[in-house]
Formats: sequence, structure tokens, C-alpha cells
Amino acid sequence: MIRINDNLCKGCNICIEFCPLNVFEFSDKMNRKGYYIPDVAREEDCNYCSICDLLCPEFAIILIKEKKKEKNVIKRK
Ligand code: SF4
Ligand code: SF4
Repeated sequence: MIRINDNLCKGCNICIEFCPLNVFEFSDKMNRKGYYIPDVAREEDCNYCSICDLLCPEFAIILIKEKKKEKNVIKRK
């Protein structure tokens, strides 16, 4: 899961520029401070390299790598 904290983001676009997999996109969504917030456009392409998280100067990016859901399969003899 990738989320951008709208209240912290300052619209610097570093995440857009440096994501190697082009996950973020420019958007016209503006936060309360008047900064344009990037859109997480291709979350499914993310490999959780953490580059965006490390480079964001406002600590606005939240990355949570979700575990694949395991199915409970009951085998009957
Ligand atoms: S790097 Fe951080 S502050 Fe800059 S646009 Fe991306 S989320 Fe916002
Ligand atoms: S964790 Fe890596 S691949 Fe995923 S959005 Fe951030 S920079 Fe892009």
C-alpha cells in the first residue's frame, strides 16, 4: 500500500522524478496549503524499493508492504 499524507506533502515532485517504476503521476489535486499532491497512479507496479520514502523531504509517503493473503485450505481425505 502506498499513501501520500496530503497534509505533509509540499508538492516538490521528488517522488515522481525518482521512482524507477513510474508509480506516481502529476495531478491537479491540491491540499489545504495549496500544494499539488502527486497521484499514486500505478501502485501495482511498485516493488517497495523505498526510494520515494527515503527521498521525500516531508516524510509524507507511507509504504506498507502487505503480505499475500493465505487461503486456509482444508484437505479432506
Ligand atoms: S516527495 Fe514527498 S513532499 Fe515531494 S511531492 Fe512527493 S510526497 Fe510530496
Ligand atoms: S517504493 Fe520504489 S517503486 Fe514503489 S513507489 Fe516508491 S520509489 Fe516507486
